[in-house]
Amino acid sequence: MTILDTRNRPLRDLRISVTDRCNFRCSYCMPKSVFGADHAFLPKTELLTFEEIARLAGLFRALGVEKIRLTGGEPTLRKDLDVLVRMLAGIPDLDLTLTTNGSTLDALARPLAAAGLRRVTVSLDSLDDAVFGKMNDVSFPVARVLAGIDGAGAAGLTPLKINCVVRRSVNLDSVIPLAERFRGSPHVLRFIEFMDVGTTNGWRLDDVVPAGELAAMIGARWPIEPAERHYPGEVAERWRYRDGRGEIGFISSVTRAFCGACTRARLSADGRLYLCLFGVRGIDLRAPLRSGASDADLTALISTAWRARDDRYSELRGAATEGLPRVEMSFIGG
Ligand code: SF4
Repeated sequence: MTILDTRNRPLRDLRISVTDRCNFRCSYCMPKSVFGADHAFLPKTELLTFEEIARLAGLFRALGVEKIRLTGGEPTLRKDLDVLVRMLAGIPDLDLTLTTNGSTLDALARPLAAAGLRRVTVSLDSLDDAVFGKMNDVSFPVARVLAGIDGAGAAGLTPLKINCVVRRSVNLDSVIPLAERFRGSPHVLRFIEFMDVGTTNGWRLDDVVPAGELAAMIGARWPIEPAERHYPGEVAERWRYRDGRGEIGFISSVTRAFCGACTRARLSADGRLYLCLFGVRGIDLRAPLRSGASDADLTALISTAWRARDDRYSELRGAATEGLPRVEMSFIGG
């Protein structure tokens, strides 16, 4: 089945946030100044249970979703995550993946792969401990994340995607060392333009390094050329090294918006459906779920929402979007 929104975009990808908690405080997502020690995270009773997540995932699958990405906060902080992965891996022909900060991957890669996880994306904003510490604001050692990447590789979760958010004022000098590290490896490094997600990360346009500038920087060191996207709606622009040493990607929501082919929906940890990363309001699926709604009722709620969708925030970014009370990225996953 395929359902199309008002811009003829099919619903193909679902990102499920399984927790709003994280053990990092990345400045572009969950700044410590806002998410401090006394921040009130969602109590367990407000989180969707694994059974509720699996039920909704089955309904989304029937509506055309082909890929589910587990996110957070930091999804591996949700206890017994492998149990949920096993439940979701039972849904036929589903591409099941996870985005993580890599902090627990050295221990969890094997059980998650054994439970049916297919792929993993790891965030790594620098190889330099001091710079990485500035980005994640908890001084987590790079070596642990690299050990997690090796562990995931050994567990068969290859190739990995490695995501690096670039802030001109913080980690621009980390770009070439990261490219050098993953060139020639099976893993695909992607650089993400710093985005005005949520309302708390102090976003400024002059702190964004455009994908074009990053491509020129890397191309000056190792010639690269554009490569075809694997499928319509793929988030990252693909580029390959001309010398055959692999590929690199750019996620350019600010300077080269890709809303035209956006096929992504997001489910928050408390069961609200968001139709855009920069969404303002979510549609509550938990209340009907917990008050006995049938599969048909829930399916109608989801498909009605998607069919009415006209989100294209990144195309509209500017005066028209200033001051919008956007949902925090840590609440719905990147
Ligand atoms: S801004 Fe919204 S509509 Fe555009 S690509 Fe991102 S999530 Fe999709």
